[in-house]
Amino acid sequence: MSSDDSTKPKDFIRAIVAEDVAKKKNGGQVATRFPTEPNGCLHIGHAKSIVLNFGIAKENEGGICNLRFDDTNPTTEETQHVESIVEDVRWLGYDWGDRIHFTSDYFDQLFEFAVRLIEKGKAFVDDQSAEEIRANNGSLTQPGRNSPSRDRSVEENLDLFARMKAGEFDAGRKTLRAKIDMSSSVLTLRDPIMYRIQKSHHHRTGEDWSIYPMYDFAHGQSDAIEGITHSICTLEFQDHRPLYDWYIQELGLEPAPRQIEFARLNLTYTVMSKRMLRRLVDEGHVDGWDDPRLPTLRGLRRRGYTPDSIRSFCEGIGVAKRDNMIELARLEHSIRHDLNLRAKRVMGVLRPLKLVIENMPEGEVDELDAINNPEDDSAGTRKVPFSRELYIERDDFMEDPPKKFFRLAPGREVRLRYAYFVTCTEVVKDVDGEVVELRCTYDPATRGGDAPDGRKVKGTLHWVSVHHAIDAEVRLYDTLFSVEDPTRTLPGQDFTDNLNPSSLEVLRKVKVEPSMAGAVPGSVCQFERQGYFCVDPDSDEHRLVFNRTVTLRDTWAKVAKKEKR
Ligand code: ATP
Ligand code: MG
Repeated sequence: MSSDDSTKPKDFIRAIVAEDVAKKKNGGQVATRFPTEPNGCLHIGHAKSIVLNFGIAKENEGGICNLRFDDTNPTTEETQHVESIVEDVRWLGYDWGDRIHFTSDYFDQLFEFAVRLIEKGKAFVDDQSAEEIRANNGSLTQPGRNSPSRDRSVEENLDLFARMKAGEFDAGRKTLRAKIDMSSSVLTLRDPIMYRIQKSHHHRTGEDWSIYPMYDFAHGQSDAIEGITHSICTLEFQDHRPLYDWYIQELGLEPAPRQIEFARLNLTYTVMSKRMLRRLVDEGHVDGWDDPRLPTLRGLRRRGYTPDSIRSFCEGIGVAKRDNMIELARLEHSIRHDLNLRAKRVMGVLRPLKLVIENMPEGEVDELDAINNPEDDSAGTRKVPFSRELYIERDDFMEDPPKKFFRLAPGREVRLRYAYFVTCTEVVKDVDGEVVELRCTYDPATRGGDAPDGRKVKGTLHWVSVHHAIDAEVRLYDTLFSVEDPTRTLPGQDFTDNLNPSSLEVLRKVKVEPSMAGAVPGSVCQFERQGYFCVDPDSDEHRLVFNRTVTLRDTWAKVAKKEKR
């Protein structure tokens, strides 16, 4: 084997897979899957799992990765989520061919498996209620108590299970349980429930079933049915592995999927569980699953994140066995890096202040050349109209500037980007004393932004021409929560108490240069000095709406540099 770094597996899961392939386990075949419960939209934590599972399949010759919906719970699953998940995985750039599967497709087979376990004396129908089962389950320090139904005959169990299936009993009256060991130190092995009675409509099987398999009974068997070689999942399933192995072994299914657990992705300033995300949506804290403040893939997409940036983020954070928290700044770094290469630079004034150039004739328009993307020569240049009346950013002017303020102030000369040097000669205020307009002069000799006499200015401002500008709305986002770990709460509070009240700021009087006219939803740009933006689907022919994807300040680059040092 070469000692070259590029041939070394990137993480411990890939190392295990490589070892199995080298040993020709399962004939050297690699089959993974992304399994998901269609009870909400995918978030960036799921992306980590998708990138890992599809990535491993792709890296191994002949490897496959299935998309599977674990739709064992009829009450929470909705067709609408299946569609959104399919769309999101595809958007991330992955293809499962015709290998899209539903656990509900295996309901008949799973039922047969259950019958087989009853016949082996390894499963029984329990009359206890859910509360009784819980009360008899013991604890970490105490063994559980056997159910009074545990010693039923195989015949009676088969009969009762068939009648459960036929809908003879009401929900909660009976369950089917595996007969393992009520005193096992592994709690999941204490006669776990395999089937429960539930008379609900299922999104695919309709009213066909009155009993539904538990996730724990369905999951491993579904993997086996699909020939999954490596069942990659998150750490919370570690304690379930002995149970999954028990089912596979008792049923004699081959090849047995090898389960490998890894740590979930946690990100600062957000939450990553569908249950919490659903609450944010249902309680109206955000505006739907695709709210740009959410870590859902739809939210990130609407915010302006590209699939490339999410994939490279997921690949960059690595895969480990220990729980950790990744800085949100790192995700932002990844989209900034991507958009730096692909986003067209434009000028947009978020909080406009009018500036009148007194020595420029009314009606005159000067078309100036502006560079579309300094990182990409092929992006070329465009013309931006310059005229007597302009807008500049309100923040770029101070009447009484402190020492380090190098932008515009009375009597001061600055550069207008791609245009001219201007000097502020007069400040116009309204009755309340608020600055409403600046009067300036410009130096026609500085066209393009340089003075032939070599004189320098310290500030360069962006601007747009009043008569050419297009109106826009801009949505500025801050973190959704105001603390790094929103799930850590004070007594009596919950994570919603940590929401950041100013996570969204809407600016309705934004002025954008005319080259953005007709921009379609999803298009991205950089407003110079302000950040990366993308056009929101709320836009129409009368109204342009932009989301700020990310500012230009890269806090992660600084952190990374410090860590390197
Ligand atoms: P949630 O708690 O958000 O509902 P889940 O695990 O219930 O997550 P599923 O749809 O059942 O969601 O999970 C699909 C797959 O994605 C599973 O293999 C799960 O382990 C993985 N996964 C879920 N959340 C994360 C995460 N934060 N980081 C990495 N993988 C995750
Ligand atoms: Mg789940």
